[in-house]
Amino acid sequence: MDTYLRLAIQKKGRLSDDSLSLLKECGIKFSNGTGKLMAASRNFPIEFLFLRDDDIPGYVADGVADIGIAGENVVLEKNKNVSIVKRLGFSKCRLSLAIPKGHTYEGLTYFNGKSIATSYPNILGQFLQQNSINAEIHEISGSVEIAPGIGLAEAICDLVSTGSTLLSNGLKEVETVLRSEAVLIAGESLTEAKQSILNNLLFRLESVQEGRNNKYILLNAPNEKLDEIISYLPGMRSPTIMPLAQKGWSSLHSVINEDAFWEVIENLKKAGAEGILVVPIEKMIK
Ligand code: ATP
Ligand code: ZN
Repeated sequence: MDTYLRLAIQKKGRLSDDSLSLLKECGIKFSNGTGKLMAASRNFPIEFLFLRDDDIPGYVADGVADIGIAGENVVLEKNKNVSIVKRLGFSKCRLSLAIPKGHTYEGLTYFNGKSIATSYPNILGQFLQQNSINAEIHEISGSVEIAPGIGLAEAICDLVSTGSTLLSNGLKEVETVLRSEAVLIAGESLTEAKQSILNNLLFRLESVQEGRNNKYILLNAPNEKLDEIISYLPGMRSPTIMPLAQKGWSSLHSVINEDAFWEVIENLKKAGAEGILVVPIEKMIK
């Protein structure tokens, strides 16, 4: 029988769309009929298991799935026997402490003797312990943000992305407990065949991520400025330089990193670059 790597992903929710589109960008084709629990890829030895996100670390630890995509927050909270093999860069959010808007906040000691509602008792408990804060944790499974309003707790610890839910419940964010993003997790012992499929998947994920983090840039420059312009363009090796029909001018092609993007563009313009074109890269193989 052929070996398949079994990947657990969230059935429906904030992780689903980005997980599926990342896999598609990796060239992995499959059809996910709605309501199905499992699907297999048509062109890559991988099977999908569609689950609730909370169950993913446990299924991977038990070996029902070989790997999984889940929020780091859930992975740390469940504390199962799995390891993070890749950070995926989407579903970014933070787990934060929030208190009633009107209260003054002067530091973590605010929480001494207070009760805090959360769905993340383990992560919060560890955080409080590390900071020597003595607070009471109320574990609740949903709608944590309404807890102070109904008198269930004096503060909350919950996931935040923009903070608008907090504001509309009369709360303000005062401390970040954890920064989270989607991560790829794996169980402890994969067979050699499965490990080799995972390595292939990781290679594809890296090529897609590198492509997203870089841009292809083309520009024209007077020849006497080339040295200065090249000094701003690291490229994969060095820029490609081609003569233009117009005498004394060249066309230059290179790759630049998204992080340094605007700074590089400003330097290039100052150095005399013209007709700068920036093009997205679909995949980048190192
Ligand atoms: P399930 O039905 O699978 O249990 P859920 O309601 O528990 O779903 P979602 O709300 O879909 O979970 O969130 C899944 C994950 O997405 C979270 O664990 C977290 O990692 C991330 N996430 C949560 N809130 C946000 C947000 N506001 N912005 C971005 N990512 C978020
Ligand atoms: Zn969930």
